[in-house]
Amino acid sequence: MKNQDIFQRAQESIPGGVNSPVRAFKSVGGTPRFIAKANGAYIWDVEGTQYIDYLGSWGPAIVGHSHPEVVKAVQDAAVNGLSFGAPTEGEVILAEKICALLPSIEQVRLVSSGTEATMSAIRLARGATNRRKIIKFEGCYHGHSDSLLVKAGSGLLTFGNPSSSGVPQEFVSHTIVLEYNNLDAVQQAFNEVGNDIACVIVEPIAGNMNLIKPKAGFLEGLRELCTQHGALLIFDEVMTGFRAGPKGVQGLTGIKPDLTTLAKVIGGGMPVGAFGGRKDIMQHIAPMGAVYQAGTLSGNPVSVAAGLKTLEILNRPGFYEQLSATTATLVKGLKEKAAKHGVTFSADSVGGMFGIYFRSEVPTTFAEVQESDTKAFNVFFHAMLDEGVHLAPSAFEAGFVSACHNEEILTKTFDAADKAFAKVAAM
Ligand code: PMP
Repeated sequence: MKNQDIFQRAQESIPGGVNSPVRAFKSVGGTPRFIAKANGAYIWDVEGTQYIDYLGSWGPAIVGHSHPEVVKAVQDAAVNGLSFGAPTEGEVILAEKICALLPSIEQVRLVSSGTEATMSAIRLARGATNRRKIIKFEGCYHGHSDSLLVKAGSGLLTFGNPSSSGVPQEFVSHTIVLEYNNLDAVQQAFNEVGNDIACVIVEPIAGNMNLIKPKAGFLEGLRELCTQHGALLIFDEVMTGFRAGPKGVQGLTGIKPDLTTLAKVIGGGMPVGAFGGRKDIMQHIAPMGAVYQAGTLSGNPVSVAAGLKTLEILNRPGFYEQLSATTATLVKGLKEKAAKHGVTFSADSVGGMFGIYFRSEVPTTFAEVQESDTKAFNVFFHAMLDEGVHLAPSAFEAGFVSACHNEEILTKTFDAADKAFAKVAAM
């Protein structure tokens, strides 16, 4: 009963009992598990129950939880001081590493979260181009800064309505929200207001409306339109960076964004974000230029140590081959179990990310993913949890695999899924 007791208590002192909304199990119902510890592919709640973890802290835990080398790096860094408010060599090494790994990034600035990274990149794009408007896509999440917290209304060229109260309409009046994978809509927006569009920001593989891949030509088209109209292309690789592949989606596609945002994996489980790109653009940032951006804990030495060690581990030979193969095997096995029970289901993966959908086809847009059977997902989610498998508590989130998810863990997952799909079939 401890999870339930703590959740009750939590709701007294924390809004909804959680410090980030999706943790509250609001869409799936029930009691969130309060996690006491994690190791490798497993997490344990306060009642001592063990779960196979497919949350992976929403992406960062790519080398597995509590990796001994990462823990040691953090401990060693902490002994020397937690934060200085003055530069360190570690930050330089991490910046050099990011620039070396992602060739589109010539200079990079470290921040403390993905939200900060995207917010700063947007400000930089506006400052560098001297334009006001931004294009984002329905279902893509870029953190919770005001101008990005917008979903689409209907229509081809929809000027945004805020998704959150507390965001005045005027604050998002320059945010244009278009359908993901709809290049014609982007073309039309550029035709209409192209000379005032500062940037297009996109999750080059979307992971915040479940997993949705770009159609052939979509990202290439964005690149072309941005170049043609003098707008900047921002790849938000907060989730996909070093997760979809060793060089993120830009590595998989060969498309070079002007700016890239990163977080999650590059902090190895500690708070870190980054935005970087072409040097001529990055030179607009203070203290070099007129676009202001700062942070008390930016480039925190303990976070940097965790990130550096994580990047070192995932650059060892065979890391991504194994991770991708594991994730692909997971998806294949889940599809087989669903088929066995006659459940309408599809699934997809890239690198160490996967999507499961209670619909017959892998979706390509937000509207399509919304057609998923959420009731079926909720039954599946709770049945898996009862069997000791912790998935993301929403039908509209991607899942994450780590290097510690091995054959034995996959077999346990498939056994759980066999029972869970049977429950779905019996709904
Ligand atoms: N961009 C993307 C693509 C994300 O997935 C997220 C977080 N899920 C963010 C930005 C915001 O990052 P953070 O939660 O670290 O602020």
